Amino acid sequence: MKKTVLITGSSRGIGRAIALKLAEGNYNIVVNYKGRKDKADEVVELIRAKGKDCIAIQADVSDYSQVEKMFDKIFDKFGKVDVLINNAGISVYGMLQDISINDWHNVYGTNVNGMFYCTKLAAPKMISQKYGKIINISSMWGIVGASCESLYASTKGAINSFTKSVAKELAPSGITANVVAPGVVLTDMLDQLGEEALECVRDETPLGRHSKPEEIADIVDFLLSEKGDFFTGQIISPNGGLVIP
Ligand code: NAD
Repeated sequence: MKKTVLITGSSRGIGRAIALKLAEGNYNIVVNYKGRKDKADEVVELIRAKGKDCIAIQADVSDYSQVEKMFDKIFDKFGKVDVLINNAGISVYGMLQDISINDWHNVYGTNVNGMFYCTKLAAPKMISQKYGKIINISSMWGIVGASCESLYASTKGAINSFTKSVAKELAPSGITANVVAPGVVLTDMLDQLGEEALECVRDETPLGRHSKPEEIADIVDFLLSEKGDFFTGQIISPNGGLVIP
């Protein structure tokens, strides 16, 4: 039977690559976006061209009422969410003393609250059907921390421990929850970092390169396949060997 997958923040970057990868499988696909309707529509068109049912829904995941409306629309159209990919994320880099209170709440609002809201709303139907897969996109910095990353890295650490707890709680209901915690992936998110910083990280990466969004999508696809059925509560970190905990 066709499963319905929601990928938050999937109008570009890693989320877009995941949506396009899953369009090769047996899914109805919901593309969530915050602001760029044109970009989301482009993804929807590409997916529909592959013969798959796909809709785009605007919602800021940091706003619970918008997330509730998004889920109402999904339930009206597809009845449930079988697979939830919490991918939407933002970052603010900077020294601890330069991080504003506003930045702190904004980044937690999207990266942590958004994940909680979507999981909270997806879980009841997953529990009643005794099936569901949740994948949360974290970061290698959430595992080891990094200088000038206390805000971003701590949201990713929260994602990791939330996922482990949810995995334990929901396993008896036939639901798995895992984290994909990438190293550096070449997307628009890195624009604020600058070439020099990127080169520096690449030089320190044992495999000597950055990753592509499609490589992250392949890992998500694996976890969602039957081959990934025995994974739960795990942090899978494609990072070229930069972080080996
Ligand atoms: P990106 O900036 O290209 O994409 C992020 C997407 O999330 C965008 O489409 C954006 O509009 C959306 N988004 C942001 N705030 C939102 C909100 N409040 N509601 C709904 N959507 C929202 O970045 P990306 O690199 O594709 O990042 C995707 C995920 O991967 C993020 O969680 C990020 O932290 C994580 N990640 C990225 C890297 C990297 O190097 N690019 C590394 C590790 C983890």
